[in-house]
Amino acid sequence: MPGFEFFGAEERKEVNDVLETGILMRYGFDGPRKGIWKAKELEEAICETFGCKHAQLVSSGTAALTAAMSALGIGYGDEIILPAFTFVASFEAVLSVGAIPVLVDVDDTLTLNPAAVRNAITSKTKCVMPVHMCGSMADMDALVAICKEHNLILLEDACQSIGATYKGKKLGTIGDAGTFSFDFVKMITCAEGGVVMSNREDVYINTDGYSDHGHDHKGGLDRGADLHPFIGYNFRISELHAAVGLAQIKKLDNFLNLQRNNNKMLRQILAAIPEISFRRVPDEAGDSCSFLSWFLPTEAITKAVVAELKAQGILAGNFYWFVNNWHYISKWDHLKNAITLNHLHPDLKTAVMHHANKDFSASDAVMGRCISTAISLLWTPEQIKVKGEQMVTVINKVLKAQQVTA
Ligand SMILES: *Cc1c(COP(=O)(O)O)cnc(C)c1O
Repeated sequence: MPGFEFFGAEERKEVNDVLETGILMRYGFDGPRKGIWKAKELEEAICETFGCKHAQLVSSGTAALTAAMSALGIGYGDEIILPAFTFVASFEAVLSVGAIPVLVDVDDTLTLNPAAVRNAITSKTKCVMPVHMCGSMADMDALVAICKEHNLILLEDACQSIGATYKGKKLGTIGDAGTFSFDFVKMITCAEGGVVMSNREDVYINTDGYSDHGHDHKGGLDRGADLHPFIGYNFRISELHAAVGLAQIKKLDNFLNLQRNNNKMLRQILAAIPEISFRRVPDEAGDSCSFLSWFLPTEAITKAVVAELKAQGILAGNFYWFVNNWHYISKWDHLKNAITLNHLHPDLKTAVMHHANKDFSASDAVMGRCISTAISLLWTPEQIKVKGEQMVTVINKVLKAQQVTA
């Protein structure tokens, strides 16, 4: 998954262009910047690479989600339906705009279960936010249909699936808006950064202003002459960060090719074990392959395999999300107890705390049996073979012990 594995001369060159002029800010200083506009250039490259009309760079993926929600008019009293398996940033953004996160079950796609989305719709529902986890996609046809039917906003959190596609369209460009994160461990990195993509001009104009203190960017050469038609914040990206991303986006096709090859090789090795099944991918051809996600028959077997991988010192890179602090509802006590540093509106607090008593057994049945193996871009075929065979040995050992005790 991570572009940081290929940090090199190209990134240094782009950053040096900025250091030469010393204009580290993305707006203004038209003279001294000598034609260097890295953020603008990266936004254009994003539109071209992912096939969207508009792109607004911001300071992080979390900022991108927050800006997108505000731009789409999501706020106080609105419910947003999102999956119980995601990164904490997804619900952080919802809370930051004062809206109500409604977490629902995932299925064997590791993303929103469309039936669970339907069940969660109320008169307050304003938006459905699929999160395309671990390099692959949600069932977008089903979710698009639900949103059309109920007149809901569709916002894609594609932070983990840069470059993946669904029926020929890039993830993040299918809904009303979509976001990527360019943090340090994402498919392409800016060190820190994010983007809001949209085909809607109103969304673009709103994110452009919202991420820069409400500036309308119509003051010409004088930033001070910009007006502020609404209240914004500072979620700007710097030229230094954008410069890194500009070098990285040019490497994306190479990253995807390497990742898909490495993923396929590892998958072939694991597939030799009949008890293993793989994540359901609604459009196999579009998988970015940043992870290989696989299932064992039971939670007990999965836990035993995780323990044995750990005992043998080869757990690194294998993620058992079910007990992971950052990605699954089971460990989000801070959310379930609505622990915030400032006061939440009492109604919002009640709605958030509702998650403590909610039944996520359908998600548990999926996540309890799932391990995701992160795919490195740097693996050699020989290393993949060794790694795969080590994993097979561990899994077979656990399965055999299980048969003996059964
Ligand atoms: C990384 C990530 C984010 C947020 O990105 P940051 O740039 O780290 O703020 C949001 N959603 C998902 C699913 C992520 O993986």
